[in-house]
This record gives sequence, structure tokens and C-alpha cells, in this order.
Amino acid sequence: MNLSYTVSTALKKEYTCRDVCSCGSNLQVENICKDTECPNHETQRLYCKTCRKQNKKHVHEIEEISDAFTEIDQKWSSLR
Ligand SMILES: [Zn+2]
Ligand SMILES: [Zn+2]
Repeated sequence: MNLSYTVSTALKKEYTCRDVCSCGSNLQVENICKDTECPNHETQRLYCKTCRKQNKKHVHEIEEISDAFTEIDQKWSSLR
């Protein structure tokens, strides 16, 4: 069983299931909150560009979801 593949796939599935932002904008999520210090980290791991630009909910480095996926894949690859 390829565990790394399973985890990576499960993560992607989770993200694509919640592709609309929880703020009610009906916009697709584009960014991922990876800052555990962020007050919105637990409640809003994924957010749209409205949240990013206007609400200042996530005042930290902006990370694209696609970049996060790439990073996850690379991490798993390096572990093999
Ligand atoms: Zn939003
Ligand atoms: Zn955040």
C-alpha cells in the first residue's frame, strides 16, 4: 500500500469538496491558511480572494492552494 499517495489524495479530495468559501461570498477558495498562530486557522483553513483582500482575516503570508499541493507532493516524494 502506498501510504503517501493515499494521504495526498485524501487531502486533495478534502479541499475540492469545500471549494466554495465559508464567508458566504460564493467564491472559490484560492488560498490556504497554514499559520497555526492565525486566529482563523482553525475555522477557515481555506479562503477566497475576498477574505484575503478585504476582511484581513488572514494577516500572514499568502499561499495558493495549488502551491500547497505541490509542496505536499514534494514532501512525500522526498520521504520515499
Ligand atoms: Zn471568503
Ligand atoms: Zn490565516
